[in-house]
Order: sequence, then structure tokens, then C-alpha cells
Amino acid sequence: PGGNRATAKEDKIVVTVRLRPLSKREQAAKDQVAWECIDDQTIVQKSPVNDRSTQTSSFSFDKVFGPASLTETVYEDGVKNVALSSLMGINATIFAYGQTSSGKTYTMRGITEKAVTDIYHHIMNTPEREFSIRISGLEIYNENVRDLLNSESGGRNLKLLDDPEKGTVVDKLVEETARDDVHLRHLISICEAQRQVGETALNDNSSRSHQIIRLTIQSTLRESSGCIRSYVASLNFVDLAGSERAAQTHADGTRLREGCHINLSLMTLTTVIRKLSAGGKRTGHIPYRDSKLTRILQHSLGGNARTAIICTLSPAMSHAEQTRNTLYFATRAK
Ligand code: ADP
Ligand code: MG
Repeated sequence: PGGNRATAKEDKIVVTVRLRPLSKREQAAKDQVAWECIDDQTIVQKSPVNDRSTQTSSFSFDKVFGPASLTETVYEDGVKNVALSSLMGINATIFAYGQTSSGKTYTMRGITEKAVTDIYHHIMNTPEREFSIRISGLEIYNENVRDLLNSESGGRNLKLLDDPEKGTVVDKLVEETARDDVHLRHLISICEAQRQVGETALNDNSSRSHQIIRLTIQSTLRESSGCIRSYVASLNFVDLAGSERAAQTHADGTRLREGCHINLSLMTLTTVIRKLSAGGKRTGHIPYRDSKLTRILQHSLGGNARTAIICTLSPAMSHAEQTRNTLYFATRAK
């Protein structure tokens, strides 16, 4: 790892990892901490679970956040530059990737909150531009798309349509214009509450579903000359299904194990990200159209777009194999 890579700021895909603290429950069950962050770019496995001495036990990334890190630091050091590029007309996507219970939702909620604060801070400090922010929220469960801002449509599956100008659009998805930051936070909380309704109705929903909160940020320069310069971009916050639903592959891309509940959108996303990060001529065909998630995010992933992936990790010995799989994914993504 490392080598001649560009700095985090220039990278199109910024990959960071966050190790959460051991939970009370894990402590009570006498689970052990299996991982240690030895500096802010390196995480090591303290003691191998199995005697697989050929396996790497050290992984390096743009940033590694330890159990004492605040979400604010994760935002500042790993997300902020990517998120704010959406104010300059560049599509941006922030992902939380990791096994169920590793801290995806915890991290993504905090990140979204920090980003909203920052966006409105920028707006206040840019009086020469007129901004408008729209929001939509959706959930993909079993390749069904559900609107998180429209409780009327219930669990109804929304269709994806191909628009010649906008690309893939979600038919009938509600989009609201935020009046201000308070209103925007309120709309985000509606999306989060709606996802939780699904959680109670469908057992295990959040381990299987993807949540996307999309902000569409538009701005126009107020110029006395009457000349108008417009920017428009999407900023997507994506809380992914549990990574135990992805087909696990070795670092070389060969299949390790295929469970019986593979999540098509997650599997396709990992392929798309692996191909995008390989870049250059080796990229070949990128299978955006193979899943709902990658179709919806296509224009925010390829081309002139920026991506931050926060890989969340459980420190528990009992989860060490999944943690290792997440670290392999993170290594291939960067
Ligand atoms: P996931 O969405 O990946 O399934 P959650 O975000 O729900 O996982 O996190 C699982 C539990 O761990 C929650 O109770 C959450 O509050 C807690 N948690 C996650 N990350 C952290 C962290 N960095 N610090 C403290 N608690 C955390
Ligand atoms: Mg979750």
C-alpha cells in the first residue's frame, strides 16, 4: 500500500477506515479487541484468530480513525473536501461500508449533520451566489426502491427511468426544497425515521437495505453585468447494506465465498468501485446498469465526480474475519 498514490486531496476516491470502540455488550461477553491503530494511516491485527501466518496483518489508508476518534474528525479529515466540491458543481458521494453493527449508520448520521452545517456556513460566506438545495431520500431493499420522503407511497416500488438529459431518474420520487438548514435537518430526520419504520416491519431490514439521501445543490452568481454562471451537483450520503451481504473476494478479485443472501446492489457496487479505482485503460466496461444502486449513483461515481468511502470496523475478535474482508475491500477501493 502507499507508493506513488496521489495525496488524499487529489484522489478521486478517498478511502478511510474507522474502528469503533468495543460495545458494552461485547465487553460483557468477554470479547477481545483484535485490532489496533498504530498511527493515523495504519491498522494492524493484534493477534491472528487463526494461525494463518501468510495473511497480511497490517493495512494502510489515507486515514485510519481509532476508537477514540470523533465523527467530527472523520468528517474534517476524510469527507469535507469531497462533500464541499458539490458546491462547485462536482457530484460527490459519501459511502459508509462495513458489516452490520460496525458503525455505518452512527457514522453516516454524524457526517450528514456536519456536512449540512458546513454547507450552510459556506452559503453564508458566499453572498455573491444564490443557492438552492433540494433533497430526496430513498431506500433500496431487495432491488425495490422506496421513497423515504413520501409516507403515502408506503413500501411501493418506484421505477427507474432513463432520461436523455439527466440519466437515470427515479420515477415519482419526492423532492423537497429546503428553506434553510433547520428545514433541511427536519427533512433528513424524516428520511431516517422512515427507514426505521421499514426496520420494524421487516426483520433485519438495515442489514439488507441501502439508504441514499441526495442533496441537489444549485447556485447562480449574482453579477451586475447580468452574466449568470450556474453550478448544479448532487451530494449523496449512502448508508450501505451490511458488507456481509457482498460476495467476498480475495485481494486479487477471485471469489472467496458466496453466501446465499448476496445483495445484488452491493456486489455490483464493489465491482464498480474496484474498476473505477483501477482506473486508466484497465477499467474496461463498468457495470453500472447491473443494479439499482449503481444505476442511481452512476453520474455521481464515474466521470467528473468525487467519492469518499468510510469503511467502518468492529474491533471485536469475534468479528475479525468480516473486519478483514472490509479491509480487503478498502484496499482494493483506494
Ligand atoms: P451499522 O449501521 O453498521 O449496523 P450502527 O451504526 O447501528 O451499525 O452501530 C452499532 C452500534 O455501535 C450502535 O449502538 C452505535 O451507537 C455504536 N457505535 C457505532 N460506532 C460507534 C463509535 N464510533 N463510537 C461509539 N459507538 C459507536
Ligand atoms: Mg445501520
